Amino acid sequence: MVPVNIREQIEKAEMVLVGLGEELQCPESVRRLPEYGTGRDRLTESELPWLLPAWDDYCEGRVKADTGAVLEKFADILADKNYFIVSVAMNRSIADAPWKEGRLVMPCGTALKLQCAGKCDRDPIPLSEKDKCLLEEIMGDLYQGRFQPEKAEGLGPCEECRSPMVLNNVWVGKNYNEKGYLEQWHQYTKWLQGTLNRRVLILELGVGMRFPTVIRFPFEKAAFFNQKAVFCRINEKLYHMTEELKGKGQGISQNAIDCLRNL
Ligand SMILES: [Zn+2]
Repeated sequence: MVPVNIREQIEKAEMVLVGLGEELQCPESVRRLPEYGTGRDRLTESELPWLLPAWDDYCEGRVKADTGAVLEKFADILADKNYFIVSVAMNRSIADAPWKEGRLVMPCGTALKLQCAGKCDRDPIPLSEKDKCLLEEIMGDLYQGRFQPEKAEGLGPCEECRSPMVLNNVWVGKNYNEKGYLEQWHQYTKWLQGTLNRRVLILELGVGMRFPTVIRFPFEKAAFFNQKAVFCRINEKLYHMTEELKGKGQGISQNAIDCLRNL
């Protein structure tokens, strides 16, 4: 099979469905940082795993990763297309990229909003400047090897039930407040219904198997049921295409950020 030219496929498509995954969450330059893995382990084992996306953002800034610039260029390439972005990566650089209004959904959450850790279902709220400074301080401490989890109490108690406030992402666990993204999710499912029988390019970029029911499986299904779909799966390791999609799609063994950088 001739390798797909992604730029050309984007031009030919009527609609473009994009999935962003773990490879964008953790670029090579961040992975190489010795402090990164140590901090990650520390948070994973702690009572505060919901700080993980903040740690990724912090380290991305620390190594001056070019993820933001790469995504800005990608948004520019997509500018005159009818597209939708679904991301299981939780980075600030994805949330901040200049996508078209209302065309991004991040179902796993981010480090950009706070929610109540308890059971009350107040809507998640954006971080205040004070919260952002505190988070930066906690991450700075962690980077220096002196993590002080008690500082996170400074994010305040919930005004309604006095439970602690935590970052609104899946690592909160069973009390993850999905109100942070549900409205966008409805927009997305509506948009997805509109792709049927249209020339849709499905671009899956660096999506692993951590949350396969959000992007990988539904994207395969969308490609399977649409006669005119073209499916490109770009991934360093998990690039294999299912048997049913042979001929319609192609798996490319490449890191997603490298792929976008060279578009
Ligand atoms: Zn509460």
